[in-house]
Amino acid sequence: MVAKGDMVYASASDAAILEKGECGGAVTALLKYALESGMVDAVLTVKKGYDIYDAKPVLIKDPAELADCAGSLHCGTLLLPKLIKKYLDGAKNEKLAVTLKGCDAKAMYELAKRKQINLDNVIMIGLNCGGSVSPVLARTMIADKFEMDPDSVVKEEIDKGQFIVLDQNGEHKGISIDELEEAGYGRRANCQRCKTKVPRQCDLACGNWGVIGPKAGKATFVEVCSDKGAALLEGATKAGAIETAEPIPKGIEIRGKIENAMFKLADKHRAAQFGALGESEDRLKFIMNETSRCIKCYQCIENCPICYCVECSTKKPHLVTPGQVPPPFMFHLIRFSHISDSCVNCGQCEELCAMDIPNALFMHSLQVEMEKMFGFVPGVNMDLPILALVEEPTERKRLSDTGSDQIYNIF
Ligand code: FAD
Ligand code: SF4
Ligand code: SF4
Ligand code: SF4
Ligand code: SF4
Repeated sequence: MVAKGDMVYASASDAAILEKGECGGAVTALLKYALESGMVDAVLTVKKGYDIYDAKPVLIKDPAELADCAGSLHCGTLLLPKLIKKYLDGAKNEKLAVTLKGCDAKAMYELAKRKQINLDNVIMIGLNCGGSVSPVLARTMIADKFEMDPDSVVKEEIDKGQFIVLDQNGEHKGISIDELEEAGYGRRANCQRCKTKVPRQCDLACGNWGVIGPKAGKATFVEVCSDKGAALLEGATKAGAIETAEPIPKGIEIRGKIENAMFKLADKHRAAQFGALGESEDRLKFIMNETSRCIKCYQCIENCPICYCVECSTKKPHLVTPGQVPPPFMFHLIRFSHISDSCVNCGQCEELCAMDIPNALFMHSLQVEMEKMFGFVPGVNMDLPILALVEEPTERKRLSDTGSDQIYNIF
């Protein structure tokens, strides 16, 4: 009997999935079992598109198509929860299984508490995450640091602290992530600051950390984080879709040590990145100066998991003059005031900004201060955000009262 809190090494029983999977294919086998057994109607995950820099989201209903998605795409920086909200009706009418990095998992909770996603209908398969690399920067990094043609690279992986690439001629090259980051490459800046390494708010948290001994590289370490996750793991094991083994105790210890080391590293990056913003008035001037490049393309709003309002305040003429580019600082102040309590540091508003404004850095720095002040931690549970406490005009409905209205229309 599998229960919440259990930990196992798992791998796919199917030889093709075992071979194709990043670490033994357990995640693909679990997704396939969930679909075949009718636990879910569809699987939302990502698949390699045109090349290794192109991770595309896919909705799969035919279990035979899942093996094609196996493997980890470290340049896959997309945020799946916003797609569930936008294009899959928030999983209100369909049962879904979805693969989620830590920031995705946090976004799921923030959207769920705003009633934009129905978590009851979703099986969340968490992927441990040391970080992801921006596809644009990855190309430059491979040309400059690896001295390889980015178009010739057919595979990438992250192993033992190195980013490793393989080209079509079979040439392998690995460079330590620390070295890459010192040179301004490597993981995205938000990933460097991220402290959600094992996404325990999912139903299962899966990763390679802690798999040692004969199974190293051939199995995934699965931590069971909910009853739903336990049911999936147990069902898949009984059906013969996956094989499991007790984890080696030393492996559990190593996994814990790596997670702690990653927290310390993130603290170091936070101190450096937030410190570089300056203090007090200097910080404000810095932010105002950077955001003055804004061309109001709305990508930060379109892709932020906290932004879902039907009528966005940044489009109200009495607040932000229509057609004015760059927009007044009010445009950014509205976002800061509406989102800073709940920002999950997913990096979408920075990565997709047409003007390379470090929006996620600004928002995350505010979120960290808000967390210190009020104790609200976004993305870990269903606790309501601080803004949900705001008294609204009577004609507007409170977050807690409605499944459809917004809470951010105060100004
Ligand atoms: P597979 O059977 O290969 O299935 C993997 C599933 O993940 C597939 O469905 C695939 O579509 C999906 N997927 C691939 N890329 C993404 C993506 N970018 N976003 C969402 N879904 C995706 N584990 C660690 O222990 N430490 C780490 O530092 C670590 N970093 C990771 C960083 C990234 C960006 C990713 C995607 C994964 C990371 N993992 C990490 C998890 C690890 O690489 C494996 O995914 C995990 O062990 C499961 O292996 P598997 O063979 O069972 O998965
Ligand atoms: Fe992974 Fe965290 Fe970066 Fe998200 S923000 S991709 S969870 S390291
Ligand atoms: Fe993600 Fe940016 Fe929104 Fe924060 S503000 S949740 S980093 S998109
Ligand atoms: Fe985002 Fe605020 Fe606009 Fe809502 S009103 S979409 S929270 S900026
Ligand atoms: Fe401005 Fe960048 Fe947001 Fe576009 S994504 S509106 S340029 S801050």
